[in-house]
Amino acid sequence: MYSLLKISFAFTFLLLLVGCKSNISISYDLDEKGKEFQDYPTNIILLIGDGMGLTQISAAMYSNNNRLALAKFPVIGFHKSHAANELITDSAAGGTAIACGIKTNNGNIGTDENGIPTLSILEELDSMNFSTGMIVTSTIVHATPAAFAAHRARREMYEEIALDYLDANVDLLIGGGRQYFQNREMDDRDLVNEFENKGYVVMDQLYTTMNKIKWPLDKNLLYFTADKQPLTVSGGRDYLSFAVRQGVQYLEQKSNKGFFLLVEGSQIDWMNHANDGRGVVMETLDFDRAIWEAIQYANKKGNTLVLVTADHESGGMSIEAESRMNKLKYGFTTNGHTAAMIPVFAYGPGSNLFRGIYENTSIYHKMRTVLGLKERINPLSPNPSSE
Ligand SMILES: [Zn+2]
Repeated sequence: MYSLLKISFAFTFLLLLVGCKSNISISYDLDEKGKEFQDYPTNIILLIGDGMGLTQISAAMYSNNNRLALAKFPVIGFHKSHAANELITDSAAGGTAIACGIKTNNGNIGTDENGIPTLSILEELDSMNFSTGMIVTSTIVHATPAAFAAHRARREMYEEIALDYLDANVDLLIGGGRQYFQNREMDDRDLVNEFENKGYVVMDQLYTTMNKIKWPLDKNLLYFTADKQPLTVSGGRDYLSFAVRQGVQYLEQKSNKGFFLLVEGSQIDWMNHANDGRGVVMETLDFDRAIWEAIQYANKKGNTLVLVTADHESGGMSIEAESRMNKLKYGFTTNGHTAAMIPVFAYGPGSNLFRGIYENTSIYHKMRTVLGLKERINPLSPNPSSE
């Protein structure tokens, strides 16, 4: 009995040790034997780590015993992130490039240089009865998700972006920013009420924790994770990977055509802006856990393309001299964004198309190609014409 106790104590101690070294207890084992992928995907899961360049990825890996879910991706390319009017992009132009396939000016959300709205891939797939979702760790109306479902001249038009979502018919929305839907400054409208009238179940993490959600298959779901911005990972935020695991199951059941899910690790960028290397690593590892959920799903199903990229690098981050494995020293060259090329990781059917170096707008066109979509027409333009 005593020796049994001793063994179990030693085992617990070992677990504690491992737990201290790494905050991920993921095996990274995928059963890839005999796996068969379809030729073309039915579903796309697009994960954008805002501000996640190669150094952010390297720092997360070297802080996590040299391992990442990202290391499972067999196909890697690079995109050029520049905006139409500036070499260094912001998240609005960067998001619009990936969502809509056009280079636009910094600050523009789902609109071209002349302010003309451009249809996003999410909106196009929604019109074809795919189910669609967006899961983010910022407010749900922040620049990156907004580029996929809103059309505004300026990214700061959060309350107007919330109005656009009323018409966007996204099946699943998870993120912060309830304040832009209720107790609004620009009008007295109660968008929570209006979303409910449009067929949404609206829930709030304050009252229903995510593991208590009854996922409404006959309705859409809007789930707020904060009134303003969600917490940082170090502040206790931990919903992203769980939301992705549940979200793909939900979207899969909501349509037999397929689904498109956008996932954003939003706060990697903010840690870069704050030149907080440890924060960058924690946010990137949180994002990597969501990536792990996505590739496990894709590996099991064989019909899902998983893409991971960023809109841009920020911080000009470096890993400094005297760094050691799991003990890194960070440097930063800026509080803003940089123009470095950004890696694109692809897993699953259609992934081969994502090799090479290309513009960020090509990600949009490549996604359309692998889904077999027809000639591109912009019905939001005053003169709809094919391009
Ligand atoms: Zn930024």
